[in-house]
Amino acid sequence: MSNYVDRVIAEVKEKYATEPEFVQTVEEVYSSIKPLVEIHPEYEENAILERMVIPERVVMFRVPWEDDKGVLHVNTGYRVQFSSAIGPYKGGLRFAPSVNMSVIKFLGFEQVFKDALSTLPIGGAKGGSDFDPNGKSDKEVQRFCASFMQGLWRFIGPDVDCPAGDLGVGGREIGYLFGAWRRLTGSYANGALSGKDPLFGGSAFRPEATGFGAVYYLQEVLKHENDPIEGKRVAVAGFGNVSWGVCKKLAELGAKAVTLSGPDGYIYDPDGVCTEEKINYMLEMRASGRNKVQDYADKFGVQFFPGQKPWGCKDVDIIMPCATQNDVNMDEAKKIVANGIKYYIEVANMPTTNEALRFLMEQKNMIVAPSKAVNCGGVSVSALEMSQNSERLFWDGEEVDKWLHKIMKNIYDSSVAAAERCGLGYNLVAGANIAGVEKVANAMIKQGRAF
Ligand code: GLU
Repeated sequence: MSNYVDRVIAEVKEKYATEPEFVQTVEEVYSSIKPLVEIHPEYEENAILERMVIPERVVMFRVPWEDDKGVLHVNTGYRVQFSSAIGPYKGGLRFAPSVNMSVIKFLGFEQVFKDALSTLPIGGAKGGSDFDPNGKSDKEVQRFCASFMQGLWRFIGPDVDCPAGDLGVGGREIGYLFGAWRRLTGSYANGALSGKDPLFGGSAFRPEATGFGAVYYLQEVLKHENDPIEGKRVAVAGFGNVSWGVCKKLAELGAKAVTLSGPDGYIYDPDGVCTEEKINYMLEMRASGRNKVQDYADKFGVQFFPGQKPWGCKDVDIIMPCATQNDVNMDEAKKIVANGIKYYIEVANMPTTNEALRFLMEQKNMIVAPSKAVNCGGVSVSALEMSQNSERLFWDGEEVDKWLHKIMKNIYDSSVAAAERCGLGYNLVAGANIAGVEKVANAMIKQGRAF
């Protein structure tokens, strides 16, 4: 057996020791694709794994902006264009104080394989800034977005790179970024950003896409287990756009999210976050900029657990972390296993530490699904938005939802098939990594060694 994979992982650990999140994702992806590398000796001959860990281009820029009192602040802007082997760079922008090069590189690396899985012709990128939109006025956000785009505009475009939203970047920010892009370029190339309002080229269902797609993926898992979704109780973490979509679709299908979480703690709603009023209130909480999930408990009179995460909740059948990276560590994973929960469905990007993920995957009675497959609905509908922009057409919601269903089923099926082909049985985590890496690697080889 070749030690190619281990050698590259060791090199990455040494070379990027100051980028822990990036090293974590490379180790997670590469350690699961050994059987694939065994059947493709040409990957080593063509230095595919070494090439994949170096982005094609990294842009880092200064973002000065004035607050409402006229005080000047400065943040750092990033765009890591990881791979365009199968299409223009595609991936979100994250505005959060925790953003740094390591975080953006981890997200960009994940995005390459996620986008490959989507079955659509898109490469992978990620960007953002350490700017915190919480507690900022609308005008401050507007000024920040205009300045951010001034640093970024020359590196993006409909056939080059199409950024979208992520944590801290929703429809409002995309609107301000698009306004600035249009002014700077003097063109109406609206395929340069996705997640736009349908008034100026956005797709139907984009806000719902990530959450709905995650539940469509969950349905495939449950079908495999011959287990109905009706009546299932779900621990959801986060209360942003993705959790909102998950809660909404679960409710439509007769299941219930019973927890939500925020930086301040988590809420437990035994009746479920499933009425229209509760689901709409999630949007209000997010828009308030307070970033406090306690507001839900105060409004609906349910329990709030300050400073805690929902992973110890016994009253659930399914776990869906929808918040941010490394939300579930070993201690929390042990609680999940002790509670006998069968389904662990990652939704946020890399919500599980590598140690916890390995532990969960070792459990005989547990099914683990990886985020790069489960949350792929968001970027997939973004790619459909790019198609609509190229055609200068608007597809109705039914059409987009049909595509989303088909894409999520394809992702699930191709992950299952890839793991089986490599002799790994029913392994959704390795399957998604193998299917994603194989597609990108083969495209790289067919386009020559100098790329
Ligand atoms: N930020 C989302 C993701 O992690 C969406 C990216 C996009 O729509 O381009 O996939």
